[in-house]
Amino acid sequence: MRLGIDLGGTKIEIIALLSSGKEVYRHRVDTPQGDYEQTLHAIVQLVEQTKIYLIGQNQLMPSENISIGIGIPGAVSLKTDLIKNANSVCLIGKPLREDLQTHLGHTIQITNDANCLTVSEATDGAAAGCDVVFGVIIGTGTGGGIAIHQQVIAGVNAIAGEWGHNPMPWLAEEELNEAKQVLCYCGQHNCIETFLSGPGMLHRYRQKGGSADSPQEIVAQAESGNELAEQFMRQYESWLARGLASIINILDPDAIVLGGGLSNIERLYQNVPGIWQQYVFSDQVSTRLLKAKYGDSSGVRGAAWL
Ligand SMILES: [Zn+2]
Repeated sequence: MRLGIDLGGTKIEIIALLSSGKEVYRHRVDTPQGDYEQTLHAIVQLVEQTKIYLIGQNQLMPSENISIGIGIPGAVSLKTDLIKNANSVCLIGKPLREDLQTHLGHTIQITNDANCLTVSEATDGAAAGCDVVFGVIIGTGTGGGIAIHQQVIAGVNAIAGEWGHNPMPWLAEEELNEAKQVLCYCGQHNCIETFLSGPGMLHRYRQKGGSADSPQEIVAQAESGNELAEQFMRQYESWLARGLASIINILDPDAIVLGGGLSNIERLYQNVPGIWQQYVFSDQVSTRLLKAKYGDSSGVRGAAWL
């Protein structure tokens, strides 16, 4: 039995997979906001509830060994074994793996959530059969992962694919001036994440005088003919295209798969590939932009496969 957990900025999801890949249980709860101890408690509770359910269904023996993989919006430092680079900043510097192992009595694998998404989609998802896949999570943050021949490239610093804290390329002067006003939690200005993440998108829309409570609301406003919203969506698509063009220039992937809450914005798939052509250093761009097959649950499947 494999348990996969996706620890996101807004929800924590658990899934139980048989070794055949068949899903036998799934449940999600809200992520406690800004509180490490409560987050720890929520994960422990989810695992315990799942075990009780599976034992009740005769799908798990009480003494049976289970593997638990967790995808987090960050990474475990290879130097300290503490969490680093998490946009859920309450996790940063915390011994999450050690704490969970103490509470649960199981060995825990922790990896980056975008790596989970990427391996899941490259294995049997939207990019199945592709040699080189770049996976992106656009949601509370902006993560990235690389899979080559269905294997995650973790990197010697555990940061492979982390493009969200590179600067947004090819910014016009006006965009650059606006970007200077937005400080990223990593300490830099101009980070890709501050343009593309859900909170980043909302912040910039409000900066331009727009009013919306969610990215989906901006899309809906654009659809209903709101000129400001439509203009902003075009600019957002251009930002996404520029961010991804820099990846295509370096990695030249067969496919880029989008996951996370904002991957449900359908117009991105129609519009973004038409824009990135002008930034990619090639006479033609065959890279496909695909929506994650398993939706925002792709990460949790990848975590279970850990
Ligand atoms: Zn940053």
